[in-house]
This record gives sequence, C-alpha cells and structure tokens, in this order.
Amino acid sequence: MNAANKKINFYFWAQLITYHLSLITQKMRQQIVAGNWKMNKTLDEGTELIKSVLEKLEQRPRGPVVFATPFPFLLAAAKILKVRKGFYLAAQNCHHEEKGAYTGEVSVDMLSSVGAEYVIIGHSERRQYFKETNEQLAKKVNLALGKGLLPIFCCGEPLDIREKGTHVGYVAKQLKASLFHLPTAEFRKVVIAYEPIWAIGTGRTASTEQAQEMHAAIRVLLAKKYGKDVADGTSILYGGSCNAQNAPDLFRQPDVDGGLIGGASLKADDFVAIVNAMK
Ligand code: PEP
Repeated sequence: MNAANKKINFYFWAQLITYHLSLITQKMRQQIVAGNWKMNKTLDEGTELIKSVLEKLEQRPRGPVVFATPFPFLLAAAKILKVRKGFYLAAQNCHHEEKGAYTGEVSVDMLSSVGAEYVIIGHSERRQYFKETNEQLAKKVNLALGKGLLPIFCCGEPLDIREKGTHVGYVAKQLKASLFHLPTAEFRKVVIAYEPIWAIGTGRTASTEQAQEMHAAIRVLLAKKYGKDVADGTSILYGGSCNAQNAPDLFRQPDVDGGLIGGASLKADDFVAIVNAMK
C-alpha cells in the first residue's frame, strides 16, 4: 500500500470510529408518557389504577411510562412498579430546600427514599396557586438532580400571552431562568413538558401545529445554549387536554416526544391508549 492509500485508509477508519463513538455518547431522545394524577384518587383506587394499566399493557411500552401519584401513594406504587420494566414513579412536586422546619413539605431525599425516580417541577398549578417562582424552581431542579431524581420541568404560557403572540419568548424566559444555569451533563437528565396553561384541564388542546411550533422553538433554544446533540437528545413532552383521540396526531409531530397527561391518566383504558400512541 502506497503512502497516499495508507493516508486514505487511516482517515476512513478514524471517521468510522468517530461516528460510532458519537452514536454511543449521543443520547437518543425517547418518547415518554407520564400520568399526573394531581389531587385525585384514594390509595385503593390508585393502586387499582396502576395494576389495571399494567394488566392492559401486556407488551413493554415503546418508551418509559411514568406515574406521578400523590405523595401518600408513592411507596405503595413503587412496590407494584418495581417488578415491571419500563414503568417509573414520579412525585408531583418537591420542596426547594433540602430539609428543615418546613411543616407539611416533602424533600427530595424523602421522595427518593420511597422509590420516586422522577419529579414534576414547575407545573403551572404550582406556579399559579402556590406562587412558585422561577428561582425556587431552579433550586428544586438542582436538588432533584443532586439526589439522582430526574426533573420533568413544566413550562407554558397563559392565554393572554398566546393571544398576543409572545408565547415563544415567554416560555424561553421560563427555561432560561430555571434550567440554563445547569452544566451540560446535568441538563441532559432533564425532561421538558410544554403545557400551555389555556389547554390544561380545559378540554381545549393545542393543535398539532401549535404544539409542533413551540416544541421546535424550544429545541432551537436548547441547541443555542447546549448544542445540537443535547437539543436532539432532550425529550419534550406535550401536556394540555391530551387524550386517547388526539395523542396519536400529537405524538406523530417530529418534536413532540410523548405527553404529560392529567385527566386522561385517571382512567386505565384512556391512559393505555395514550401509552400505545407512542411512536
Ligand atoms: C397536567 O396537569 O399536566 C395536564 C396536562 O392536565 P390535563 O391533561 O388534564 O389537561
């Protein structure tokens, strides 16, 4: 082999190895379906619901399925879920301080000690009714990641902002304020849920075009901050009146990576149909 051929050969192998290494290190994003039960169900009703979903889903789902139960059910839910691959447990909230004199609150350590793997942070109901601020949410994100819990970070605009057409900037501000301090390795663990407030619990879903537009805009924002690999590897869920009928169309959008489901996660058949809508 002459010198020129050797050189070509070397570049060929170097490129092939680099390509395969990039495939290994690149986190491919996954579709996720998470059910947010909010303040619904009793312990018996909740455990029945989980058992019924597991029974109806005989095959392993195409992506992670997460149950965000109320705090008092986490331990019981963890026991049922730990024997099935592909199913995970989430808390709906955590406190922004590590521990201490915060009567009635629940810490990240407590959540992981009962088996929670994810935690929803910044749901619009927490922002609205409990006046949670971007700064507190940033602290919650830090604590969760520090203790090995994966944040499902919610963002989304109210109706007046949507009507003014400034929704992309509004959501960008929320993400920058509570997530963009994270170093890349930590940011990679975050799941984002875009939930337009006007669509939550109202029966008024964002159209597939509206969802796709915002999800794509979020991904562009992530690419600018963390690079294309990270942006492409981040799961961005849609939430807001997602149900068994509209989930297939929503999940088919290129930048919609599953859903955060409220009302429709409370009925086994509906939730199973949504899980089955994952691409
Ligand atoms: C939610 O609470 O996160 C949610 C999306 O609710 P719903 O599906 O009921 O609109």
